[in-house]
Amino acid sequence: MKTIGIIGGMSPESTVLYYQIINRETNRRLGGNRSAKILLDSVDFEEIVRLQKSGDWAAAGNVLAQSARKLEAGGADFLLLATNTMHKVAPAIEQAAGIPLLHVVDATAAAAIKRQGLSAVGLLGTRFTMSDGFYTERMGSQGVQTIAPTAAEQDEIHRIIFDELCLNRIRPESARYFYNVIGRLKNEGAQGVILGCTEICLLVNETDSPLPVFDSTTIHALSAVDAALAE
Ligand code: GLU
Repeated sequence: MKTIGIIGGMSPESTVLYYQIINRETNRRLGGNRSAKILLDSVDFEEIVRLQKSGDWAAAGNVLAQSARKLEAGGADFLLLATNTMHKVAPAIEQAAGIPLLHVVDATAAAAIKRQGLSAVGLLGTRFTMSDGFYTERMGSQGVQTIAPTAAEQDEIHRIIFDELCLNRIRPESARYFYNVIGRLKNEGAQGVILGCTEICLLVNETDSPLPVFDSTTIHALSAVDAALAE
């Protein structure tokens, strides 16, 4: 079994989910008391949020590159960056590390394509993820066309992620807001919706969603189990 190096803490609320999903799935597949081999480096999220707000992505990339090197030195075989947004600096991490990074877009696109071969899906995430191209272009290059919410919807979704979900504040009115946006994306032609932020699954579930849900947290974590258990 390979050792998974998780760059986490963005936010801590979703890193917990990664840890749980990976261990439960490893045990489901291997039985007994088997669990995953994980190294976790959890950053101070406030430091990252400030760099995002000031647009200093190079500095944020340096922080995460340092984390990657730590995990590599500790014996990780590959890296998992437990956030969608910070994949904006994936190239800096990949450059710094001598081990592979399991990219969240690749895992999520593969799941969206595999499940029913959908051609257009809605994308929910932080404003950075929804609007600035690093995510949608990589999705597009893998055959997944994304439909983004309006600018006003993006602002409110972004606010709910940082002011509520990342702090484990789960509000029914925010869930209703998300479901309304998903319903609107459906009217625009979306056949599914990507929860492209690792905290959205704390609020939104498939049962109440007007569209099939592709949860990046679960998909990314399960892809890490595949990689860890591969020969
Ligand atoms: N965890 C979130 C994501 O998946 C947002 C927090 C962050 O900016 O890293 O995008």
